[in-house]
Amino acid sequence: MEKTFAIIKPNAVKKNCIGKIIAMAEDNGLKVVSARMQNLSSKEAEGFYAEHSQRPFFQSLVKFMTSGPVLLLAFEGENAVEKWRKLMGATDPAKAAPGTIRKLFGDSIEANGTHGSESLTAAQREVAFFFDK
Ligand code: GDP
Repeated sequence: MEKTFAIIKPNAVKKNCIGKIIAMAEDNGLKVVSARMQNLSSKEAEGFYAEHSQRPFFQSLVKFMTSGPVLLLAFEGENAVEKWRKLMGATDPAKAAPGTIRKLFGDSIEANGTHGSESLTAAQREVAFFFDK
């Protein structure tokens, strides 16, 4: 059993797609074990995406992630990290495979609907960042 960390990003929350996205996770054997809806502060978004701080899109990404409420989630399941990454699809919705979450609910490479941890190590750090308080 693994845990992974996910965010339903502001664009997908605005489009009223929380239920559809969680249903896709649940239908694929992922169980919601933690959840919190909130507006991220700039400090939280900057800290969460710290590894991208030197990328040209960093400030834009922080602005987008703080533009409205997000749903923070931890999923548990067999192979949860890889399973959720596969369900999300490629970072850029234009390149994501048909039927993936980012293809269905993404609006741009930035406003791509969801986040998912890229490794088990990242998942542990990200779950702790938002839920171990
Ligand atoms: P992920 O692991 O698939 O989420 O992709 P990355 O870790 O590379 O990027 C983190 C997040 O930054 C993505 O989910 C997007 O929201 C955003 N992002 C990635 N690449 C770009 C880009 O080229 N331009 C902009 N504006 N945002 C990007």
